[in-house]
Amino acid sequence: MTDVRDGFLDTIGRTPLIKLHGPSAATGCTILGKAEFLNPGGSVKDRAALAIIQDAEEKGLLKPGGVIVEGTAGNTGIGLTLVGNALGYRTVIVMPETQSQEKKDMLRLIGADLRLVPAVPYSNPGNYVRYSEALAGELAKTEANGVLWANQFDNVANRLGHYRTTGQEIWRQTGGKVDAFTCAVGTGGTLAGTGMALKEHDKDIRIVLADPMGSALYHHYAHGELKAEGGSITEGIGQGRITKNLVGAPIDDQVQVTDPEALGVIFELVQKEGLVLGGSSGVNVAAAIQVARKLGPGHTVVTVLCDYGTRYQSKLFNPAFLKERDLPVPEWLA
Ligand code: PMP
Repeated sequence: MTDVRDGFLDTIGRTPLIKLHGPSAATGCTILGKAEFLNPGGSVKDRAALAIIQDAEEKGLLKPGGVIVEGTAGNTGIGLTLVGNALGYRTVIVMPETQSQEKKDMLRLIGADLRLVPAVPYSNPGNYVRYSEALAGELAKTEANGVLWANQFDNVANRLGHYRTTGQEIWRQTGGKVDAFTCAVGTGGTLAGTGMALKEHDKDIRIVLADPMGSALYHHYAHGELKAEGGSITEGIGQGRITKNLVGAPIDDQVQVTDPEALGVIFELVQKEGLVLGGSSGVNVAAAIQVARKLGPGHTVVTVLCDYGTRYQSKLFNPAFLKERDLPVPEWLA
């Protein structure tokens, strides 16, 4: 037998790097997307889920039959639930009700105990992350086999997973020929972990934050002030604080991406390259185009294709949703 993976867990990671022909031709650079949507749970967050669970097992924080509790925009919950199913842990997933119906449906169908909460800022104790921490504390009083609060934002096992896998894979796949890496931040695990690994191989690789509107990070890294302006329909990205995963992240530069810009990229990728991607991938590829233009022709820019567009059918690919927000509707949907 050849090329057989040893069960579900062994299918996480080792994703292809895809040359994006349109963005590459438009900039004279080579723009490569790390195809994280091909992970078995459909997103980049499978890696963080596996890394967090393995770290907790190594530290003796998870016992057989234990419960994993997490606050998530959805993808980490999907990853944790699938990895949990494969390893014998149950999951309780807390999610802001504003996130896509497709992610909620997926969580329910794979057996997560899903709790939806109003979308409120981190400063409010009802915020999904803070609610999940409190809930983990409550459940720990009655759960016989113990409870793990995964804490993806401040648990650096998350970025360590990307340091050990995503970053090394990109270095190997490009043969070290990479001038810049850019991606957006939810927890910061992908940007910081991958960035740290690439910098260790070659300190001249530029690590660039891709920030959607409504996130406070662009202003923080550009001007030293956490300040947000506007908002975004993208999910899973945008951050208002410096998470532990972001502390010490080797960020050289930062770019901002608007929703129309990200959507334009997503629709082009569907129509011209057959790639059906979610909003954060649109932000990432749009940022890679900006970075390529700054660097000039002949450079290689790597970014992350975080998840499938089908996860946002009811939003990004729904003309009524787009029209309500004055966003462009792709011609084939109009
Ligand atoms: N894109 C999507 C679709 C996500 O769900 C997430 C994670 N919330 C990210 C990007 C950001 O990844 P990270 O948490 O590693 O910063």
